[in-house]
Amino acid sequence: MTLAPSRAVRRQRHDVHDRPFIVIWEVTRACQLACLHCRADAITRRNPGELTLEEGRSLLDGIASFPSPHPLVVLTGGDPFERPDLEQLVRHGTGAGLSMSLSPSVTPNLTPDRLASLREAGAKAVSLSLDGARAATHDAFRGFEGTYAATRAAAQQVRDAGFRLQVNSTVTRSTVEELPSLLRDVIELGAQLWSVFFLVPTGRGQQLQTLDAEQIEDVLHWLADVSRFIAVKTTEAPHFRRVVLQREVAAVAGEGLSPGRGDLYRRLTALTARALAGVPVRERPARPPIDVNSGRGFMFVDHTGKVYPSGFLPQVAGDVRVTPVTQIYRQAPVMRALRTPDGFGGRCGTCEFREVCGGSRSRAYAVNGDPLAEDPGCAYVPTGGR
Ligand code: SF4
Repeated sequence: MTLAPSRAVRRQRHDVHDRPFIVIWEVTRACQLACLHCRADAITRRNPGELTLEEGRSLLDGIASFPSPHPLVVLTGGDPFERPDLEQLVRHGTGAGLSMSLSPSVTPNLTPDRLASLREAGAKAVSLSLDGARAATHDAFRGFEGTYAATRAAAQQVRDAGFRLQVNSTVTRSTVEELPSLLRDVIELGAQLWSVFFLVPTGRGQQLQTLDAEQIEDVLHWLADVSRFIAVKTTEAPHFRRVVLQREVAAVAGEGLSPGRGDLYRRLTALTARALAGVPVRERPARPPIDVNSGRGFMFVDHTGKVYPSGFLPQVAGDVRVTPVTQIYRQAPVMRALRTPDGFGGRCGTCEFREVCGGSRSRAYAVNGDPLAEDPGCAYVPTGGR
């Protein structure tokens, strides 16, 4: 089956083998929080083996050498605000023509003065994590009391400093029914984008319960519903794009949207009506998700310069201290394999949505030990036919 062209999903405009759409650079692993789901297993002190300022500038020049329009760059951690030279890195990247964003932790490092100096250096957007709609849930996740209230205050500071705000939320079995209230919070905080992360069992996240495939399906349908209130993206659930396309086909055919909708979907829908009652929400056309996946438009550089297809897929593709970042993205065998969905195993290899979805390669690796295996977090049964 060949998928018809659709506006429901954005395709990358450039050759995905040539350049990434986005590069995430973990500038440090140091962080004062102890979040349960931390990919980085963050530590309180900076590692002396981190890329230095000069090495960081060189990495940013390498990213800027991908053809224009250059990849988006997100500086993450740990907590990037632990680096005193963060402004210099942002200024350098901006000067090289890169669009720079930040993903700080909410700690005493995050102050209006620091935000103002990073905005002045050229950073454009900031993402903050909010994982529960109640202080008890969020603070337990983050390992410190008071971070829920501090995050809400930080969101206002971020907007006051002139940044675009993104809110990141991790969804687990124990927090999934807080999603409707979280949606309300995210809207009220004035976020432009809500990124919902479907936990992959790596790092401290191994201790938490992940959703099963049917529950993920219900949440994805619910997210497609609420996309009319806020722009939504998913992390480690690329089958959101399959859901959006299926719904488009069903809508054009005048069919109901029954596939994949179960009890959890119905509960989330009922809770949403309650959570949004009295909240002034503006409906808008849904923002189409973009077809980025691990190694396919996406690249992660760790604090020591090792390159991975994503931050949740521990397969080293190269080292920027040794090999130019452009060469690693284009030529590393693991990157090339991840851009070849016909080589995927199980359902993902035969799925008619494999080019536009491809499944979570990180979850495939975490569960099966093989980044090319099928994504066990997807409930879809392909209709066959390559
Ligand atoms: S089977 Fe794999 S490629 Fe197909 S929709 Fe599910 S995760 Fe995506």
